[in-house]
Amino acid sequence: MGKGIDFTVFKGSAAGGIVQATSHRDEPTGNQVLVKVTHSGICGTDEHFKHADMALGHEGVGTVEQLGEDVKGLAVGDVVGWGYVHKTCGTCIQCLAGHDNYCTAHVMYGTGNLDQGSFGSHAIWDASWLFKIPAGIAPEDAAPLMCGGATVFTVIDTYNIRPTDRVGVVGVGGLGHLAVQFLSKMGASVAVFSNTDSKRAEALQLGATEFYATKGTTALDIAAPLDHLIVTTSFLPDWSLFLNVMKPMGKIYPLTISGADIVIPTMPLVTRGIRVQGSAVSSRSSQIKMLDFAAAHKIRPIIERFPMTKKGVEEGMAKLREGRVRYRAVLVV
Ligand SMILES: [Zn+2]
Ligand SMILES: [Zn+2]
Repeated sequence: MGKGIDFTVFKGSAAGGIVQATSHRDEPTGNQVLVKVTHSGICGTDEHFKHADMALGHEGVGTVEQLGEDVKGLAVGDVVGWGYVHKTCGTCIQCLAGHDNYCTAHVMYGTGNLDQGSFGSHAIWDASWLFKIPAGIAPEDAAPLMCGGATVFTVIDTYNIRPTDRVGVVGVGGLGHLAVQFLSKMGASVAVFSNTDSKRAEALQLGATEFYATKGTTALDIAAPLDHLIVTTSFLPDWSLFLNVMKPMGKIYPLTISGADIVIPTMPLVTRGIRVQGSAVSSRSSQIKMLDFAAAHKIRPIIERFPMTKKGVEEGMAKLREGRVRYRAVLVV
């Protein structure tokens, strides 16, 4: 083999600043693929790792530059994306059942491959968790689908949300604005809950059937109760407010990654049979279905572009931290 490659990455640091660094890898062998990064979304989870000495970014899209000798189904020049999970075992019960996002031996962002991420110039990934981007989706639009889009679509797919269901979406951000589009395109009625009215017009345009501003509200009065509630805010909502608008046996999906414990009023939860369902990132089958569905129904994120530079990463992450991104920051090489 050759000498391998040196490539640029943008890492977190103990002080929280972004550090530009160079990583080195041998050339791809076996089932590995060298990808030249072209775009990366900035996800809220990147913020959680900004103090870690690791390459950041897990909503990557790029072009295949070099293939290991065992890779099937990909060719040099293909546009591919990847998300939170890097590799799974393929043999545990979760993998065999298709719920490979819960593989007990998975390698993923924050725990493995800390020398490379989607904030950078290149990365080498196992082909098994690379996804071909459909021709109808521009690479910059595909990036936010790889984690944010997949995370909400997995809930719809895995927990069988139906076109006849009423679904609440709490928060209109990177995940929420995609959830509204997926749900409305599949025919569900979508009630959006946001702090203020500032995103009302856009939420309705994206397909929401109702919009409710929740700031200062002590009781929600909505058109009809909800079968499902997808929580996408960066903070935990007032659960007592939302339990009152759930149908009996309704399901709540707290996708928010937060250090805080979820504390939910016990009596309405128990007596009305409400289920709180955890869900993390996406299985490969949901990810593939999501990309096909997004291509077929022309679902696109609304993005703000930043350059793939130290300054661009810093600016994009700061804007996300301040809650000012509408609705997903994308780094562009
Ligand atoms: Zn993410
Ligand atoms: Zn497994």
